[in-house]
Amino acid sequence: MNLVQQWLQKIAGKRETPTQEPPREPIDPNIAAHVLDIWLEQVASLKQLRMHDHADRKLSLARAITLESMQDAPSDPMAWVNIGRVQLADEKFEEATQAFEHARSLANQQGNAAIEGFAGSGLFQVRRRQAAPHEAAPLDLSQPLTQEQYQQFLREKLDQMFYVCQGCGQLNLMAGEHCAHCQFAPKTLEQSRLSITLSRVYFKTQTLLQIALNLQRGKNPFECIIGLDAVVQNIHSDQGILQKIEDNREDDHLNFKTLDRCASCGIKVWSSSAEVCTHCHQSLDRPVLLRLAICVERLCNQWIWTVHTSESTAFEQFVLLLVNMKYQLIRQQMGPSDAQRHKATGLLLQLSPLYTQNMGGVIRIKNPTKVVSEVIDPSVHQDVGPTVDYLRDELKHFLHLMSDSVSLF
Ligand SMILES: [Zn+2]
Ligand SMILES: [Zn+2]
Repeated sequence: MNLVQQWLQKIAGKRETPTQEPPREPIDPNIAAHVLDIWLEQVASLKQLRMHDHADRKLSLARAITLESMQDAPSDPMAWVNIGRVQLADEKFEEATQAFEHARSLANQQGNAAIEGFAGSGLFQVRRRQAAPHEAAPLDLSQPLTQEQYQQFLREKLDQMFYVCQGCGQLNLMAGEHCAHCQFAPKTLEQSRLSITLSRVYFKTQTLLQIALNLQRGKNPFECIIGLDAVVQNIHSDQGILQKIEDNREDDHLNFKTLDRCASCGIKVWSSSAEVCTHCHQSLDRPVLLRLAICVERLCNQWIWTVHTSESTAFEQFVLLLVNMKYQLIRQQMGPSDAQRHKATGLLLQLSPLYTQNMGGVIRIKNPTKVVSEVIDPSVHQDVGPTVDYLRDELKHFLHLMSDSVSLF
């Protein structure tokens, strides 16, 4: 059996009801590619919205088109790129790699640089999506830990934690420190119980983002969370925690607001990549680590205010990663590890397309250097255009800082 026959069988085997579909005119592979692009992106977002039936129907139509374009032109490299895309949407990484590689070699033989590029970017997508997070060796806790191991231990435990500051509604990693945004720290047992409650121990990430939004709008947590009072009363807390916070007062008094503003005029400059102040035009002179800290802070708030909340694991992991990176950057002036950079890029590619909460706009992350924004429905809010453009620029800047080309040390 030759390669084409093998593939026809592979794809045809996936079709659920081929006989029920009416016969179609042959479709130009380049048009098919365009249609597939749109459909496959829709399928990804529909999956996020948990409309599996609809997503499956779209995907099976995409398969049918792919099959046809391949039957019509078995050596058309674009047809093979399409196959790769369908396989990738199915998370069949080996098959997708094979198809993209075949497309690339056909395009190369035919001297078609554009399609060779599509195939290359397909292979890149496969690598990014396939990459498993790097697992560190488990620590031997029977031996005293070195400082480095202790930091690693802390990082692993903290990877799954964060809480919402009751003073300002920002997402923070540690409840027993002064908030870098508003300097709040619990002073009474009641406050320390509430801090512990507004965390991932008691709430899902999606709910915490909602709580953060309400607190940033100035609402009282007891008003916006039903039954919170009863939960808070059952939390264990003692004077020792308050004493520890008081003892660390000198160490952890860190004011992010001063870092976040123009040193000359004191105005907050929103764009994390800005070189000069938008108000007084003085040079901002921000070191790259500070720019990253500002960018991560902006993204945390975009996730609270702008981005449509999803229940996917990737969505939750990305929020956790942002809060962890923010802590490392602001508290420890430490840049992300290679594993964190790799994970951040991979998660964002999985999360694309990102919709705004009011569904008026969408951001598509095509690859780590190409992020585009689009207004879907300008009537939902007058600022939907500037909002999606702002989020696009912050994501672009973030991906740039996460790339290997930027040294963060
Ligand atoms: Zn705060
Ligand atoms: Zn200024």
